[in-house]
Amino acid sequence: MTDKNQHVVIVDDDPHYAELLGEMLSALDCLVTLFTSPVAFLESDIPGDSIVLLDLKMPQLDGVEVIREMAARKITARIVLISGYDSGVLHSAQQLAKAHRLNVVDRLTKPVMMKDLKTVLANLEPHQIPNNTSGDLRDGAISVSELREAIRSEQLELHYQPQINMKSGELVGAEALVRWRHPHRGLVFPNQFVPFAENNHLIGDLTARVIRMAVEQTRYWGENNLKLRVSVNVSAENISSLALPEQLSRQVEQHQLDPSMLTLEVTESALMNQRITSLDILTRLRMKGFKLSIDDFGTGYSSLSQLHRIPFTELKIDQGFVMDIDHDEESRAIVETCVMLGHKLKMNTVAEGVETQKVWDLLKEMGCETAQGYFIARPMPADKLLSWYDKYSGSPDTENIHSP
Ligand code: C2E
Ligand code: MG
Ligand code: MG
Repeated sequence: MTDKNQHVVIVDDDPHYAELLGEMLSALDCLVTLFTSPVAFLESDIPGDSIVLLDLKMPQLDGVEVIREMAARKITARIVLISGYDSGVLHSAQQLAKAHRLNVVDRLTKPVMMKDLKTVLANLEPHQIPNNTSGDLRDGAISVSELREAIRSEQLELHYQPQINMKSGELVGAEALVRWRHPHRGLVFPNQFVPFAENNHLIGDLTARVIRMAVEQTRYWGENNLKLRVSVNVSAENISSLALPEQLSRQVEQHQLDPSMLTLEVTESALMNQRITSLDILTRLRMKGFKLSIDDFGTGYSSLSQLHRIPFTELKIDQGFVMDIDHDEESRAIVETCVMLGHKLKMNTVAEGVETQKVWDLLKEMGCETAQGYFIARPMPADKLLSWYDKYSGSPDTENIHSP
């Protein structure tokens, strides 16, 4: 059944078509808002629980540009893409929106029929705000001084997500993911404060803190016979600080740690605005022995020559593609190509977002080296990792996973 009084926002430059859709939706008891200008739509306040029907083909600002802008504005409304293009274009646009973490729930081809609209509305799940399971900061903005204090007074902690060698089944590494244990709001996830830190000149301090914790932890595990490579995420601004390679080298020396035990993950989009300094810094980091990973690969615009120019040691395929390989041929082709590319460039390939046995099996068939995802384990506090691994490697359930 259709949600009564569901708020639907139509964005279509053709006024007749927009009105026609509006009439159909009103007949289905929806509250309708029409925009024939995408610019006006982007300037409006879009309720988080509404559904946006977005036409992809608009002369003023095309659907792909609107998707990019909506992502920049962190719009959480559910989106249905509409187009008269062939289904390949619709599919690519949907993949792009998903890669931007937008909440695309369906797609429709023009001319849209009443029965299609009914089906789309009937299939809608109740609205959920993605990645918002705890510590929502939207209802009370965080302040610079609060976050600065959190970094200083050690309210940040790292959770580690295991990375498994797909052939041997061995635990080979862990990605360190930052969380904020807030005194009142509970555990706050990084998408709620890392972008804020980036925009308020706190990312240097945040990353320095994260790296210190990760280095101490790696050394501790090493002393306890667990040789684990640890990956940390760094932001675009971090790789424009010329002092970073020396700071990092000093830290690993202090802890007598081999720099190759530390991998720095840089997202593909952070490299998009890359200046010469980042290239300089990344090259020096490699020369000092640190490993470099290109994170969320497939979502940005890095050219092959850029991959070749920067001495990456690892290619981390974006979870948006990995999750879909069991039911979407194009995602499967993309992931397969990434694995091949990684092999050709002699890079370690990591698939993140492995959630099911089926996806694991397909990745293994493709020759992907390393897997990370909820199917193996969710990120966990450092002190849980050893006991988790004992259980994991001894579990009968995981025997077929482990066989080479
Ligand atoms: P990322 O580096 O791509 O990390 C992977 C994210 O996917 C993590 O979310 C992880 O918990 C989640 N994930 C892992 N496996 C699965 C799976 O099978 N299914 C699904 N649905 N999700 C999975 P998390 O911890 O919320 O981190 C989000 C992003 O925040 C990270 O994306 C990274 O870009 C950023 N981040 C995390 N820690 C730091 C940090 O210390 N510094 C900086 N600059 N950014 C960080
Ligand atoms: Mg990462
Ligand atoms: Mg990633």
